[in-house]
Amino acid sequence: MSAFVDSVMAQVKAKNPAEPEFHQAVQEVVESLELVIEKHPEYRAAKIVERIVEPERVIMFRVPWLDDQGEVQVNRGFRIEMNSAIGPYKGGLRFHPSVNLGILKFLAFEQVFKNSLTTLPMGGGKGGSDFDPKGKSDNEVMRFCQSFMTELNRHIGQFTDVPAGDIGVGGREIGFLFGQYKRIKNEFVGVLTGKGLAWGGSLIRPEATGYGAVYFGQNMLATKNDTYEGKTCLVSGSGNVAQYTIEKLNELGGKAVTCSDSSGYIYDEAGIDAGKLAFLMELKNVKRGRVKEYADKYSSAVYTPVDPNLDYNPLWDHKADCAFPSATQNEINAKDAENLLKNGVTLVSEGANMPTVPDGVEKFIKAGIMYGPGKAANAGGVAVSGLEMSQNSLRLSWTREEVDGHLKRIMKDIHDASYAAAEKYGTPGNYVNGANIAGFLKVANTMMDQGVV
Ligand code: NDP
Repeated sequence: MSAFVDSVMAQVKAKNPAEPEFHQAVQEVVESLELVIEKHPEYRAAKIVERIVEPERVIMFRVPWLDDQGEVQVNRGFRIEMNSAIGPYKGGLRFHPSVNLGILKFLAFEQVFKNSLTTLPMGGGKGGSDFDPKGKSDNEVMRFCQSFMTELNRHIGQFTDVPAGDIGVGGREIGFLFGQYKRIKNEFVGVLTGKGLAWGGSLIRPEATGYGAVYFGQNMLATKNDTYEGKTCLVSGSGNVAQYTIEKLNELGGKAVTCSDSSGYIYDEAGIDAGKLAFLMELKNVKRGRVKEYADKYSSAVYTPVDPNLDYNPLWDHKADCAFPSATQNEINAKDAENLLKNGVTLVSEGANMPTVPDGVEKFIKAGIMYGPGKAANAGGVAVSGLEMSQNSLRLSWTREEVDGHLKRIMKDIHDASYAAAEKYGTPGNYVNGANIAGFLKVANTMMDQGVV
């Protein structure tokens, strides 16, 4: 490690103790930025990197609510407003018991670069709560969301900070949050994205992250004159991102053979075709069931429960051409990365945020496979959120074809910008460096323009 990386990381670790995911995300970016800092001493003098790792604002609050038995429950709410150089803070809300300050800071930090890559005017933020929507009734989820928004409303706004969904926050939660915001503020504005179509939502928003990750992979394949036709794909997760990844892969001639939840995974050698995907969507989005039920219904599928004694995830240990991690951070460890390479995978496009540990990333890069890191490959979701904001401002709705056309173009632009930056800074084919550098430059130059703020 260079003296520059050492000194930034020493400060970050001292100021943000016990936040390993945040350290991991910063380290990866700072290592890439070394290549830029050497050529641009003005960024060093203006302490751009030291400023970009410090959130502009962190809000942490109590969220009390009543469960169905009338018992008082208390959760913790957060909003990290990381960087507003190029636009209002933008980034999802995550409701999951694992949520803590460090995880949300890593996500907010990644979001700054991702949003910059989309070419749209959005700053970076992230928020959420350690609330677990699993096993809660609709009424409990509503009461929680209302309490959460009762505090959050004073910190967000259509020109200030525009949250969206993430793990555990889908259409139902966005509806309850929007309803409470509108009630408190007495105004109907696009303060959240991922809204229902009847009340300001955008076509293709639910599909956008999964579709975008597949489009990103399509662009990587195109550099080798290749396509998805006949390729076998491993997908993890079974939520929003995984579902639409599978849908788009089917459309483009690929075959998805796995999906998972936190209890286990299914392997369906015959492929998760459109009919089976419809079953999965109903199971996950309406019945809120477990992925195991897929194997109960389809005899072609084998279910494997999570084994906490294993030091690898067997989902990544099947013969395949492509992998789309779409569940959560650090879900591919070094051994999983080795298994993927051993099994013939030559393309990884990350739907999830930071799903691969640093040693795994290093193995992919060393092996020279097409590796699309999350901040580039999954930027389609926030890109269409940006388009939802544009439609809200125009008070117009675009057609499915228009939004999908914008999404395809944006994913190609992100791919091309990352590819070009990797080449320009001496690491051709390294999309990690490319995405970090391309995302950074726009924010850094804007911060230079706006002075020390
Ligand atoms: P969902 O809540 O819809 O689905 C998450 C899926 O991942 C579920 O199958 C869930 O299983 C599984 N999962 C979550 N946490 C864990 C865990 N700790 N261990 C094992 N499995 C887990 O979320 P999304 O599909 O929206 O998000 C998935 C990933 O994509 C996240 O990393 C998110 O940050 C990223 N992302 C999402 C975007 C979006 O637009 N939604 C945009 C960009 C990135 P279970 O139900 O059992 O918890």
